[in-house]
Amino acid sequence: MDTNMLIGASFVAGTETEEHILNPKTGEDILLLPEASLGQIDAAVNAAEKAFTSWSRTTPGQRSNYLLKIADAIERDALGFATLEALNCGKPINAVINDEIPAIVDCYRFFAGAVRSMTGAVAGEYLPGHTSMIRRDPVGIIGSIAPWNYPLMMMAWKLAPALAGGNTVVFKPSEQTPLSALKFAKLLADILPEGVVNIVLGRGATVGNALINHPKINMISITGDIGTGKKVIEAAAKSVKRTHLELGGKAPVIVYDDVDLESVVSGLRAFGFYNAGQDCTAACRVYAGDKIYDKLVADLSSAVSTITLNDPDDTKNEIGPLISGRQRDRVASFVNRAAELPNIEITTGGKATGDRGFFFQPTVVAGALQSDEIVRREVFGPVISITRFKEPEDAVTWANDSDYGLASSVWTRDVNKAMATAARLRYGCTWINTHFMLVNEMPHGGLKQSGYGKDLSGYALEDYTVVRHVMINHGG
Ligand code: NAD
Repeated sequence: MDTNMLIGASFVAGTETEEHILNPKTGEDILLLPEASLGQIDAAVNAAEKAFTSWSRTTPGQRSNYLLKIADAIERDALGFATLEALNCGKPINAVINDEIPAIVDCYRFFAGAVRSMTGAVAGEYLPGHTSMIRRDPVGIIGSIAPWNYPLMMMAWKLAPALAGGNTVVFKPSEQTPLSALKFAKLLADILPEGVVNIVLGRGATVGNALINHPKINMISITGDIGTGKKVIEAAAKSVKRTHLELGGKAPVIVYDDVDLESVVSGLRAFGFYNAGQDCTAACRVYAGDKIYDKLVADLSSAVSTITLNDPDDTKNEIGPLISGRQRDRVASFVNRAAELPNIEITTGGKATGDRGFFFQPTVVAGALQSDEIVRREVFGPVISITRFKEPEDAVTWANDSDYGLASSVWTRDVNKAMATAARLRYGCTWINTHFMLVNEMPHGGLKQSGYGKDLSGYALEDYTVVRHVMINHGG
């Protein structure tokens, strides 16, 4: 197993506090990894600064070739990466192999193509005798900070557009899930010039804090909690850094009475519980029409009770455990507080499960009201709440009544109703008769406190580049 950080061309161990890296399926240590010192963080930033001089002058075609090589190398070692990701995150191995790895490979390939086909404003004479043109240049050194729910995929979402845009990067994985990033470091060092990507380990309060406050870092890209995003903004204000924030969600799902109930049930069973609900777009906040509410609650509860987890044969598992004991206890406390309310019925699940590891039963919380905590706060676990609505207007108002603004969905057979509702939802994405589906060509990112900045698509490439004006005097 690879355990060293990548700083410039060197693989080095951290010298500070050791972090326990756990197997969430058993709760046991996989190993201990020391975090980076301030000196090592400086060395990583200096390596990125040095590499920027030549990397930023490479052509889009050259960078594209590097990204294609990275994609091919991941694909060649797909099983190795998937095995580590499954070990460190507790994910079912098949989910990583079939869903995550192909999406990760495609992300590098997408940006390899996108950077060669960027378009922009025409050059022209806006002052007589002078030609103006627009350039899109790299931002500089990017500090990238990732969460634990999809370590390798979040790394791809951050590295691919940053590298395509000509930036160099200091990357910090989550202190809970660094293993796939450390394996990836080896692959990157074989392919990229020295210092283009550097990987440092450590906790948010120490290493993360040093990165967001580092004077030489020009932009921070972070996926994490709203509270963490606020700290990034505060730090950025001191040194005027660019920020790119992806900060969680609480996705509303509006289910109108005319719906095809079977497809809603199978959709919610899949999209509310994938990755044990540890997903910022999870279909977790359902608003169901009065006429179908009772049947939806009954059918969904029975479907959710069949989700397979903690089977000794991992190929049968549909979801894994939560990432940590702390996260499992947090999810349990949300469900317990909800269960105390007179309006709430836990129709399936509701408890931690398993002799070891951090498993929590897939749970349906019926009868939830708009004011209930379970409707308002991000649980980040295998828990769906269902709220009954009588007036369609209430469904849209309640869906929008949230601090979050990342993802949403509308389920109906009536295309007019679907489009009218989608137009009014204040979310970065609205799906119609589906949920959760992402493609590398389309932007992913939030409104409101879910943050700003887009991952994926040509918009990410815009976020990781700056617009510059160059004007030439014709001379005569
Ligand atoms: P987190 O905010 O605790 O940690 C995210 C990363 O930020 C980690 O690498 C952590 O070490 C670092 N960090 C924490 N405090 C920091 C600080 N003071 N300074 C600098 N870095 C710091 O979040 P998490 O628990 O790892 O991830 C779960 C959260 O991420 C959820 O809220 C989830 O919704 C969100 N998320 C959002 C998206 C999205 O696309 N919007 C995607 C995945 C996860």
